[in-house]
Amino acid sequence: MSRSSLAISFTRLSGNTIATPADLRREIVGIDTNVPLLDGTERRYVFLDNAASTPALRPVLRCIEDFMPWYSGVHRGTGFKSLLATEVFDAAHDVVGAFVGANPETQTVIFMKNTTECVNKLANRAALRPDDLVITTLMEHHSNDLPWRRHCRVIHLGTVEDGRPDLDQLQRLLREHAGRVKFVAITGASNISGVCTPVHDVARWTHDAGARIFVDVAQLAPHRRIDMLPDDDPGHLDFVALSAHKMYAPFGTGALIGPIEFFEQGPPDAVGGGVVEVVTLDHVEWNHPPQKEEAGTPNVIGGVALASAISLLTAVGMDVIADHETALLEYAYGKLSKLHGITLYGPTSHFENKVGVIPFNVDGTHHALVAAILGVEGGIGVRNGCFCAHPFVKHLLNVTPDEDRRLTGEVLAGDKSHMPGMVRASLGCYSDESDIDALVGMLQCILRGEIHGTYRQDTATGAFSAEGFHPDFSRFFPYTIVRPTGARRHSEAS
Ligand code: PMP
Repeated sequence: MSRSSLAISFTRLSGNTIATPADLRREIVGIDTNVPLLDGTERRYVFLDNAASTPALRPVLRCIEDFMPWYSGVHRGTGFKSLLATEVFDAAHDVVGAFVGANPETQTVIFMKNTTECVNKLANRAALRPDDLVITTLMEHHSNDLPWRRHCRVIHLGTVEDGRPDLDQLQRLLREHAGRVKFVAITGASNISGVCTPVHDVARWTHDAGARIFVDVAQLAPHRRIDMLPDDDPGHLDFVALSAHKMYAPFGTGALIGPIEFFEQGPPDAVGGGVVEVVTLDHVEWNHPPQKEEAGTPNVIGGVALASAISLLTAVGMDVIADHETALLEYAYGKLSKLHGITLYGPTSHFENKVGVIPFNVDGTHHALVAAILGVEGGIGVRNGCFCAHPFVKHLLNVTPDEDRRLTGEVLAGDKSHMPGMVRASLGCYSDESDIDALVGMLQCILRGEIHGTYRQDTATGAFSAEGFHPDFSRFFPYTIVRPTGARRHSEAS
């Protein structure tokens, strides 16, 4: 099959046309939702935490609703609904493969829960020996670092100005350790600085050293066109992984894309139903990828939702989305860089190679306090802390090894009040200038000391809460939330 015939889409046979980022904004579920503020009023929620997880697109919900009457278990059912569901679920794999430019003849698309699970699978399946080497970078999300550490030696490539990966060091390391490096595992875009990696250059150097490249595109895929390139291109990406919840389809799916031949070898890492061709009491014949790697009953709805979201994004055009976000970053940094008392991290100009992630601190004010004020006084959703990339955030904040040891000791003693961190505002394809204006307006209030609440920090979590702010959640989400008395709250993830 030629690569040009890969333009598979997953769109409703008739429906509204979505052609621009403004159209996408209109279709965001909850775009006009009001939330309560500390002063008793309500305001339209300004969602600037898209790097963590995006809201859903309404046509994705419609697609799921249209699909639900046909929902059925896939692959082994014989009834009509199962046949239809299998066809749709298999096509969803193809849509994801086409989205990243995968060759369907040589590459497989494996649906998992999220990027974290995908990297764990890849590291589990890579048959690494303890003396093998994986090169990753200081700027990785823990998901693209810790799974590798379980299997072999990991070298963390350093970063240079603005948190960009040190590509000279990478080339030196690859030359120095040629033959022993099995993988270069690198992010396509940092969830802290937004910096994009020149992944095809990295792929060329990696292949020259006889290694394979894995690119974590969790943060890149919602913002940029991805092309794994043909298998015989030296800049070809061997493996990529992404999460649907960062792509307007938060229904519990991620995808790992890589060579069929790689997954044909050896047993799958998770075994049970679905992964086998035939089982006797003393023999197992594995199925072929992707089923071989998707143990148990798959998340059919999640896969359908992801394919639907991808089709909407590609209908607008990833290049159009990238241009929109670049222009919005220009607008945001134009305003933020004029504020005195704000420290901005990472690139503050030339945004072609930066996705919409804006990390900052308000000088002299705890990052968790700033985030709390933005939430309860401004109705603005951001995130603060170290964003599952502790080494990188501490590096950008110039935390010394001694300080780091002291802070770790405090955390282990149950006190997170001094945990270093930043505030992160992050954009989606639908964000617009009004979102930036709201953020800048609230930051100006904070800088002028116009803060109305009294905030207390919980030393165990490090989070701040405003005295007297106890919204009745059941007024907004009309299902009663009943907790058994004494039940612990789940701690938040980053
Ligand atoms: N990599 C990057 C760059 C990320 O930003 C994230 C999510 N914050 C992950 C990996 C992990 O994704 P998930 O939580 O969906 O597994």
